[in-house]
Amino acid sequence: MTEQKDDAFYLQTLECVPTYDVDAVRNAVDEQLTFLRIEEDVAPEMKVLIKPNLVGDYHPYFATTTHPVVVEAIADWLIRHGCRNVCIADSPAGAVSTMSNFDYDRFYQKVGYDHLERKGIQLNRDTGWGERRSPEGCKNKSFHLLNAVLNADYIINVPKLKTHNTTTVSFGIKNLFGCVPDIQKPVFHARYPRQKDFCNMLVELAMTVKPSLTVVDGIEIMEGNGPVAGEKRNLGMLFAAKDVFSQDRVLAELLGVPPDKIGMIQAAEQKGLLHSPVVASRTFVENTPIPPLKLPDVKTSHTVKERLAAAYHVLAKKGEKAILTVQPTHVPQNCDLCLRCVNSCPVHAISAENGKIAFQYDKCIGCLCCHETCSNHAIGTQKQLKMKKN
Ligand code: SF4
Ligand code: SF4
Repeated sequence: MTEQKDDAFYLQTLECVPTYDVDAVRNAVDEQLTFLRIEEDVAPEMKVLIKPNLVGDYHPYFATTTHPVVVEAIADWLIRHGCRNVCIADSPAGAVSTMSNFDYDRFYQKVGYDHLERKGIQLNRDTGWGERRSPEGCKNKSFHLLNAVLNADYIINVPKLKTHNTTTVSFGIKNLFGCVPDIQKPVFHARYPRQKDFCNMLVELAMTVKPSLTVVDGIEIMEGNGPVAGEKRNLGMLFAAKDVFSQDRVLAELLGVPPDKIGMIQAAEQKGLLHSPVVASRTFVENTPIPPLKLPDVKTSHTVKERLAAAYHVLAKKGEKAILTVQPTHVPQNCDLCLRCVNSCPVHAISAENGKIAFQYDKCIGCLCCHETCSNHAIGTQKQLKMKKN
């Protein structure tokens, strides 16, 4: 049953910040954290975790990862307010923890975070994890989480605002998937191949991680074929709220994505997690039109999907149905044979033979972990109809 707590409300702030100018971003973050009275929630002895989106070793220019200037502004605010134990952690796509040669120094350098260590902010290199019970989870009674998440007293979720080819958007809720250790993430893709179930799991994960604050990097965003191969767009906004679920719905509405088309927002609504926002803005002009977010083109409309499936049903044998799936494709000219995609596949559907990457499409579940893992843009996507037993 859909339950919505219309009598409840939450505070959200929105600041217009046209570029990653250090002073402008710092001023905006200061305004937001002051407005939300974060100084009442943190204390010097607390272990504070900042959880950005560091899906891969992408330069900040590509708008794939949370920009370091936003993370630095939050960390600076924490340090100015006496926090002595601030850590930045994420679990990138790919089987990082099983790679004996994974170079964290190079990774943090490429994403533009390396200088933060010199300011006394810890950059996580611990790929260890433990279990946390999820008493409110319907389907997921516990989650494996990075040690950095388990040990934190206060979690600040800092997503990059993006579209996503399997979950439609990647805002606050989706960003928390990076709290799950790298080699465990593909397990969820294999367990929940249907988007609806996967999104429900993400909401139960967010209920378990319980971020205290979510600051969304919406200054330069990614639209189209996100989360790694989309187009960069300047939106020029920073958002902040304590309620990650309701904030996602506000972002969807603001960016012209019907919230009922986003599995995570539907699941949050069904669980009664959505509240009405009170939005405070210092500089936002209410009537400024915002062009809608360009969604991934692998998300074919339901009408087209059904028509195609119906056509294929004519060809289907008894007991089979046609389903439209998204499959990875290889772009050999971009490939350096690093094998990260091979190691990231949850169902071992990728192999490297004779210097070539090959997919076993009969095994592939379309999770696109390989696509996210490949920062060389050597894995593309294509739509494909498959026959499946009923
Ligand atoms: S496609 Fe090539 S470059 Fe990309 S992850 Fe796989 S092996 Fe590495
Ligand atoms: S080959 Fe298929 S199953 Fe394997 S990671 Fe890529 S999309 Fe997922």
